[in-house]
Amino acid sequence: MNESVTASLLANLKQYWGYPGFRPLQREAMTLVMSDRDSLVVLPTGGGKSLCYQVPAISRDGMALVVSPLISLMKDQVDSLQAVGVSAACINSMQTAQNKRDVAALIRRRELKLLYIAPERLVQPQTIEFLQGAGVSFIAIDEAHCISQWGHDFRPEYRQLRCLKTAFPNAAVHGYTATATEQVRADIAEQLGIADAEILVGSFDRPNLQYRVERRTDPTGQLQRILQRHKGESGIVYCISRKNVDSTSHSLNRIGFKTLPYHAGMSDEDRRKNQDAFIDEDVNIIVATVAFGMGIDKSNVRFVIHAEMPQSLENYQQESGRAGRDGLEAECCLLYAARDVDTWEFLMKDTEDPALRQAGQRAVSAMQQYCVSTRCRHRQLVEHFGQTLENDNCGACDFCLNEMQPVDEPMILGQKILSCVVRQGERFGAAYTAQVLRGSKAKRIVENGHEKLSTWGLLKDEPEPQLRNWFDQLLSQGFLRQVGEYNCLEVTPLGRQLLKGQATPMLLRLQVAESAQPVDDQWQGVDRDLFEELRAMRNRLAVQKQVPPYIIFSDATLRDLARQRPTHGGVLTRIHGIGAQKQKEFGAAVLQTIEEWCQSHNLATNIEIQSPVVASSGGRSRSSQASGSASAEYFDLFEQGLSIEEVANQLDRTVDTVSKYLGEYIKAYRITDIDPWIPPLLQKLVKQAIGQVGCERLKPVFEHLEGQVDYPRIRIVATAWEIEQSNATDDE
Ligand code: ADP
Ligand code: ZN
Repeated sequence: MNESVTASLLANLKQYWGYPGFRPLQREAMTLVMSDRDSLVVLPTGGGKSLCYQVPAISRDGMALVVSPLISLMKDQVDSLQAVGVSAACINSMQTAQNKRDVAALIRRRELKLLYIAPERLVQPQTIEFLQGAGVSFIAIDEAHCISQWGHDFRPEYRQLRCLKTAFPNAAVHGYTATATEQVRADIAEQLGIADAEILVGSFDRPNLQYRVERRTDPTGQLQRILQRHKGESGIVYCISRKNVDSTSHSLNRIGFKTLPYHAGMSDEDRRKNQDAFIDEDVNIIVATVAFGMGIDKSNVRFVIHAEMPQSLENYQQESGRAGRDGLEAECCLLYAARDVDTWEFLMKDTEDPALRQAGQRAVSAMQQYCVSTRCRHRQLVEHFGQTLENDNCGACDFCLNEMQPVDEPMILGQKILSCVVRQGERFGAAYTAQVLRGSKAKRIVENGHEKLSTWGLLKDEPEPQLRNWFDQLLSQGFLRQVGEYNCLEVTPLGRQLLKGQATPMLLRLQVAESAQPVDDQWQGVDRDLFEELRAMRNRLAVQKQVPPYIIFSDATLRDLARQRPTHGGVLTRIHGIGAQKQKEFGAAVLQTIEEWCQSHNLATNIEIQSPVVASSGGRSRSSQASGSASAEYFDLFEQGLSIEEVANQLDRTVDTVSKYLGEYIKAYRITDIDPWIPPLLQKLVKQAIGQVGCERLKPVFEHLEGQVDYPRIRIVATAWEIEQSNATDDE
């Protein structure tokens, strides 16, 4: 596809949404829409599917039809589009007659760029007839997996969408879904009558999500510790049953966390009220069954906790994926206990179809395996969906963050545990075995004479949760198995080898959960108090405009504002997520809030510099820099024009570290001339690559360059490129 199309897509992305570049696969997906090639795009939740059709819709003539399953989703999308100045509307059963007439008039006047519509309405003959004369540019099917019986959310009304290909022979059809299975994918293409569709499948990894698993021993205490890491932030706590939703919500309220419950047993009205309170940020924490979530587009969910084990990895991916849609860091924690498996078995017992039931059991056991395994969580998740993770260390799970340390002598520890199991005659469960190993004199143990075993008290210094966790690890690695109604522990043939010293398990020690720190890279330079002030301003604007706060600004935008602290319009255009419309509508309120706050708190403003011209002429003002003293020594050397290597030598730091500071430096002073650090030829190569794949993420750029340029240098050129872009917009 030629470069001018890409350029016009990029220009609209910046003008309307205020985003500097594409996310992975967005450019490819948009290009297919621009060239009328039927397509099916599979991207994880938060991957940015909506923009894949929204940006093309405004970049070409005519009106795009968007099929969407839920009224709440449609409304949300239309609100978001209107907020960025795109003319969009929806047709659904909840509208008044007047409202419908207004929308019809807009369509007749060819004033709409996007029309959202429910499938059952779209396929009505009179609707089709009306729309046939309405200049439809293309058709987008959101949540396309709803068309497949094999998906997790089959909706029979989606099946009728097949007729669209005949009704609108000139319009290409594009499906969008986060569902990863091959079977569902093939089914979607088949059902939509787009067998030749181009299929794009993105990476299922969500690098900004931090995954952790803990064995559930003290649910309230564990939840409390996790929630304390997220004071004042929005999040969801999932439970399996309604009863547990109520009791968990209650316990959390009692220990001072304000929460609201949500489950199918509540009245429609109560549910709506609680959902709205969450969306409008009147309450931060919602405790819910999985009935909650679909249709919630809230982008700043900062944590998702499963207080009980989810039903399958597909479910877990979906549910935990509701965190961090804005691309900022977020935490996904799972608390599990062995009895969760029984709960799911119980819930599935009425499934009549034996094939479905077996599939359900397999899914539960894969989920359980995830809980007890000792491998990178990100890797396990993507591998489940048939993909691989490139990095050895994801840097965002309990395993890779070394929150679970390998024990010193795993073979000896494993032998201690297994020999205890053998000496007890392999007739007891995990709880009992743990008691024996810890040296308990419980009645039952004494009755069995087990206080006389040589293994009694062998691990008396280890807490019970740690022992139980090691049992899980030995079970998951096949050294032990559980048998019979009472889940008695039994040593497997592999376990016998371990006892003979012929095999070694991998055993990890749990660290205290407090050590878990949320990643806070993306808070760098952000004044947190100002962020809170801006959040309050966002809430006020949301009430005025009667839309959810995240439609006004995302958290990413608020952080960028609290980092750069603009007090005039020129700087405002550089802020992530502020396009022309939002600048016009909210610019004055934002600038005023920042100005007043910074004045009364003696904070530097317009952190970048006073004006871009000053930077290029060398008159950099040190007084307004964001960075603390650590960066000052780097900045001094950069200012003297020293190369990256020279600075690295002088300060005895790695090239990588120096590059990061260099990035901050050129950002802080909005430097576009980076010749002192990167040879012009390299700059040119990188910029060409950015023109092709955007620079929202660096990996595609790196790959496009086939490894010719390393990440630190790409990062610097990308930073300079973004500054250039925003300068260009300023000049317009
Ligand atoms: P999905 O439908 O795949 O779950 P969304 O379309 O809701 O994802 O996008 C998730 C969030 O990411 C939204 O807040 C959206 O504005 C933002 N987003 C999408 N594309 C980009 C981009 N290229 N740059 C920055 N943010 C983006
Ligand atoms: Zn990991």
